[in-house]
Amino acid sequence: PAPGETVLAVRGVCKNFGAIAANRNISLDAKAGEILALIGPNGAGKSTLFDLISGVQRPSSGTVHFLGHESSYFPRTLSRGGMGRTFQHVRILPEMTVVENTALGAHARADISFLSSALRLDRGKEAMLIAEALRQLERVGLASSATQIAGSLALGQQRVLEIARALASDPCLLLLDEPAAGLRHLEKQALARLLKQLKAEGMAVIVVEHDMDFVMNLADRIVVMQFGEKLAEGTPCEIQRNPAVIEAYLGG
Ligand code: ADP
Ligand code: MG
Repeated sequence: PAPGETVLAVRGVCKNFGAIAANRNISLDAKAGEILALIGPNGAGKSTLFDLISGVQRPSSGTVHFLGHESSYFPRTLSRGGMGRTFQHVRILPEMTVVENTALGAHARADISFLSSALRLDRGKEAMLIAEALRQLERVGLASSATQIAGSLALGQQRVLEIARALASDPCLLLLDEPAAGLRHLEKQALARLLKQLKAEGMAVIVVEHDMDFVMNLADRIVVMQFGEKLAEGTPCEIQRNPAVIEAYLGG
């Protein structure tokens, strides 16, 4: 997609869990070469929206279009064509190495079911996946930990590993659910640099984050959610001055 092109169009999505309306009539766009931040208190419905976008869950109503096609229910967690994501609660395979975990993302790109093909992965293919995984680990600054067991990494590094795995699927849309949670200040700065670089390369990035300094310095646009609804949308400057947002954050 060309810079500025809409890659994701969410229109009027609702998601109910029994009596809980986790998402109510949410609409938003993500554009190539843009970082969109999704903010809001715990329980606002941010992670649920990621599930609807990535097809892990089906909307109760409303539509999600990705690259011009309507998304369908697609309960595969690691990636779907062109979309990479990370999770609020890190999901790695703790007993596998860092490079193996990353290679799972590259493997997802090949669009073969992991279990069936892992059994008959030929050596050439395996070498290719590992090479791609190492390239992504270099990119995120984890290459020196490639052969470590993933479960031995600090939480912050596990989050970065999840990003490397998502990148290995060569996405044009990246969904990051609280990637800076548990990261130290310098790690957050490195993460912000990485996300700005991905944006410059033309990727569309949606990031859920609570650290307001991080968000305000990073995002091109911000969507604020509260009680499952979209409360506001705008540039960081507009959001900081928005009375409804100020009331929700200071009054709530
Ligand atoms: P956020 O990520 O903004 O903190 P979530 O999307 O995780 O919010 O949750 C929104 C609301 O939906 C919360 O009230 C949460 O308890 C509820 N919820 C999320 N997932 C489920 C689920 N699988 N079953 C029932 N309720 C859920
Ligand atoms: Mg969440």
